[in-house]
Amino acid sequence: MTLDLTRDRAEVLPLLCDYVATPVALPGEPGYERCAPWNVAATVAPAAVVMATTAQDVAGAIRFAAAYGFTVTVQATGHGAVGVGADTILVQTAAMKHCEIDPHSRTARVGAGARWQDVIDAAAPHGLAPLAGSAPGVGVVGYLTGGGIGPLVRTVGLSSDHVRSFDVVTGEGRLFRASPRDNADLFWGLRGGKATLGIVTSVEIDLLPIAQFYGGAVYFDGADAAAVLHAWREWTAELPETVNTSIAIQQLPPLPGIPEPLAGRMTVAVRYTAVGDFDEAERLLAPMRAVATPVLDTVAVLPYAALGAVHADPVDPMPIHEDQALLRELPAEAVDAVLALAGPGSGSPQVLVELRLLGGSLAREPQHRSAFCHRDAAYSLAVIGLAAPEIADVVAGHASALTDAVARWSTGGQMPNFAPSYDPARPSRVYNDDTLHWLAALADRYDPGRVLATGQVIRTTTA
Ligand SMILES: Cc1cc2nc3c(=O)[nH]c(=O)nc-3n(C[C@H](O)[C@H](O)[C@H](O)COP(=O)(O)OP(=O)(O)OC[C@H]3O[C@@H](n4cnc5c(N)ncnc54)[C@H](O)[C@@H]3O)c2cc1C
Repeated sequence: MTLDLTRDRAEVLPLLCDYVATPVALPGEPGYERCAPWNVAATVAPAAVVMATTAQDVAGAIRFAAAYGFTVTVQATGHGAVGVGADTILVQTAAMKHCEIDPHSRTARVGAGARWQDVIDAAAPHGLAPLAGSAPGVGVVGYLTGGGIGPLVRTVGLSSDHVRSFDVVTGEGRLFRASPRDNADLFWGLRGGKATLGIVTSVEIDLLPIAQFYGGAVYFDGADAAAVLHAWREWTAELPETVNTSIAIQQLPPLPGIPEPLAGRMTVAVRYTAVGDFDEAERLLAPMRAVATPVLDTVAVLPYAALGAVHADPVDPMPIHEDQALLRELPAEAVDAVLALAGPGSGSPQVLVELRLLGGSLAREPQHRSAFCHRDAAYSLAVIGLAAPEIADVVAGHASALTDAVARWSTGGQMPNFAPSYDPARPSRVYNDDTLHWLAALADRYDPGRVLATGQVIRTTTA
């Protein structure tokens, strides 16, 4: 006899409400639309959405899934959305937004649904700051479980190196606190392993005494791209780790909110961030400011709460296609290869092609080792385009051509937060062999029923 799993699963779904003390939405019911991700290119159509408010809700969803043959995945904002189908229960953490600041220990305990701006705003009155990423609308936990490369990464290191502990529900529905002292294997794997070892319900992070930074972006006309990119390459070779920078060839659409000098044309943004000696930071930036005539210059001493202004990432949901290459070095030929495919006259369909300077504190071995690999990359190349149906194939093909064009200088690696989730080569690009082995072994131990075996999670190939 063949089991009609689709029908049987649909029949048991109403029982999910008995496992959790929070609203559940099935397809077509009010609340189901909350699974819509920020990156609308991902198809997120789960069997049910659990609007979790407590760790017990998360554990209940996992126990239900284990009992009735579903898998479980987690989403906070959908900035890193992965495809989700009708065999999966989606735990939506957006309501778990609590954020407690302890100014004495300089820590924040943050719920799984908090976004970086929530923590930045709560910490600012104490003159403290979390190590957020470039976009304050991104979720804290999704970012940290992928390592977290922030605008100050060279100066203060990887954001997940500043995690003190996680509360996590594993695939057996058990709640653990993971820290360097307690359940250290989980603590290792949650920093870089995304949701492989469980669904995090809250995280305790360091806050740093940063009230202001010197930063922003100097924007140049696209016609100056070659001069600006080559000058940036030479300039970054000598920069101390007190300063951070990336450079982006941008083609922003003429939409409300986009400043007139940047809208509907190619521009080049030199992003810059520094803490500490602002006069020295200004002096270090001066040669880049003088390479060509800026069309806009937003670099100034800014409150930390304005961190999002440096990259000025998009805020509203959109369909995104992204790719990444990590580079050992950036010789002039590599810059020429990028310019040939993404510079003026190239016909590039990408919204943004970004080179980011890495190294500094990121490259040093952290106090507590983690599942984040590839600290040795000198630069990253990120390619971001709109995955609108009519141009999605062109954008994806061009992104591959661009990463192929720099393959000679690439480490072959990618970072967990930037590696495309649809790529079957993702695990071997994101993790080295040892890390893959240990993540898979821990996943087998903490989730023997493979309830969380969906999306970006790492598993051994055989069940
Ligand atoms: C505009 C933009 C700017 C970005 N800037 C940066 C940047 O500067 N630096 C950087 O490192 N990354 C950056 N990213 C990547 C971002 O950090 C990842 O996409 C991250 O996964 C987003 O987390 P989220 O919770 O917002 O997204 P979601 O789509 O909700 O979650 C993505 C994934 O994170 C994991 N996750 C989420 N919640 C949990 C949980 N409770 N427990 C366990 N795992 C969980 C899961 O694997 C989930 O599939 C950026 C992304 C965008 C779209």
